[in-house]
Amino acid sequence: MDYNKLSEILFPNITKTPEDYEEIYPPRNLPEGAKVTRLGPSPTGFIHLGNLYGAFVDERLAHQSGGVFYLRIEDTDDKRQVEGAVESIIESLKYFGLEFDEGVTLDGEKGEYGPYRQSERAEIYQCYVKWLVSKGLAYPCFCTEDQIQEMRNRQESLKETPGYYGKWANCRELDFDTIKNNLNNNVPFVIRFKSYGNPNKNFEIIDGIRGQLSMPENFQDVIILKQNGIPTYHFAHVIDDHLMRTTHVVRGEEWLSSLPIHVALFEALEWGLPVYCHTTVLMKADGDTRRKLSKRHDPELSLDYYRSLGYHPEAVREYLMTIINSNYEEWRLANPETPLEEFELTTEKMSSSGTLFDLDKLNDISKEVIARIADEELYEFMLEWATNYREELVPLFKENKSMMLKILAMDRHGDKPRKDLIYCEQIFDYISYFFDEYYKVLDDYPENVDKNDIVPIINGYLETYDPNDDQAEWFSKIRELATELGYAARPKDFKKNPEQYKGHVGDVSTVIRVALMGRRSSPDLWEIQQIMGEEKVRDRFKKAIERL
Ligand code: GLU
Repeated sequence: MDYNKLSEILFPNITKTPEDYEEIYPPRNLPEGAKVTRLGPSPTGFIHLGNLYGAFVDERLAHQSGGVFYLRIEDTDDKRQVEGAVESIIESLKYFGLEFDEGVTLDGEKGEYGPYRQSERAEIYQCYVKWLVSKGLAYPCFCTEDQIQEMRNRQESLKETPGYYGKWANCRELDFDTIKNNLNNNVPFVIRFKSYGNPNKNFEIIDGIRGQLSMPENFQDVIILKQNGIPTYHFAHVIDDHLMRTTHVVRGEEWLSSLPIHVALFEALEWGLPVYCHTTVLMKADGDTRRKLSKRHDPELSLDYYRSLGYHPEAVREYLMTIINSNYEEWRLANPETPLEEFELTTEKMSSSGTLFDLDKLNDISKEVIARIADEELYEFMLEWATNYREELVPLFKENKSMMLKILAMDRHGDKPRKDLIYCEQIFDYISYFFDEYYKVLDDYPENVDKNDIVPIINGYLETYDPNDDQAEWFSKIRELATELGYAARPKDFKKNPEQYKGHVGDVSTVIRVALMGRRSSPDLWEIQQIMGEEKVRDRFKKAIERL
């Protein structure tokens, strides 16, 4: 068979050669050791935490080594495309601090190694398919769906390994005239890779995360070009990552099983391999067991979950680092103030057996991160969140800026800053009692306080309430009121002689707290009143009495 002639009749319009592309896309001029990584999402519109995890590894590997991190859109499957998905991927990753140096951007493409959308690279892929055909390493296959199905059924009944390979590969040895005839008759065809692999032989490869792997050689004649002239993932990956000069392919472990195909293709094309880094899936603790985070059951898998609740991107980044590298937390303890970019991420320290994602831990980290953010910045962050997700709160935030700044400042400074703010939605909920429109009565008055004491406590308190009192004066008035009404002025007095009192000063101030805020626990009561101002305070007590 004259393979050259075959390649010409299959791809008459392809005039460029592999050498031409080597010239168009030369090796990158980067410092020694610089890594080139990429994110290759399909534009399906759903980008999840697993993608962010991988993207974060890509970004760090590239940027900590002075390399390049680029975005390639893998849109060879047009059934799965969703309008606006690319924009949402870019924006979402940007929110979490991940910005690409190169590739598809919001305004066109950037970089010398494009096009960066696979759908625009048909000619490039076809050039390499043509070359493989000319070397006798790929061939057209005219088998119909029905024929393939029939073959599968036979393989099944004979208990043979399923697939298109060896003696089952009907089109592998078609003669030139048959092929030419088929082409003249416009019989649809795909192009298959002609495998010379031996299923009984293993090859060794070092995965950046998993270390040395031993895998069986590929022996299947996999499809590399579909009937529409668009490549399969396998082929597009190999061509793109070679021509775009990717040094490290970080991708999900679901691709591990097709690694033998990719290695065989790299070899057939006579190219060196990138370093493969297969990440693990994110797991969630479920009772005593662990299971994969699922799109259907776990809303926290979606990145929108974190944005719509208003998690600070720094908290998510910080948390991701702790699950990416096992030595990160230790580093963080030793370097509490250092930007995480100074930590050196290594693929060897990544887990290869399932990564546990723990929302509680994220929340703990978020508390620490929020505690470090200045009041004004936190206010601006909340305003931005409201603008995107809770528009109705924007006027409220804007009109009450100075009050909000005071609220956010409460107990957050000093030696023991408060650390209970987690994300915007929760922070708003936590402070909502300041706003009449959102104030809700959540807690009852304490059970041990006689119902008939509520009004005397509130009225007694209002009688002496003076917003000009400092904290000490204010509290001594509450002690006096407690004593007058038969409550101990100090909890320890009550503890000593409980039979002598109805309760203690803490019960009295809890009544005041519930009347004022509708909840039993809150930051410092005196400070809250100072922020609310006399008018609002008096109004709240009036309403509390009306509610009784
Ligand atoms: N398009 C593939 C995916 O979305 C990319 C895999 C890779 O990174 O190579 O899973």
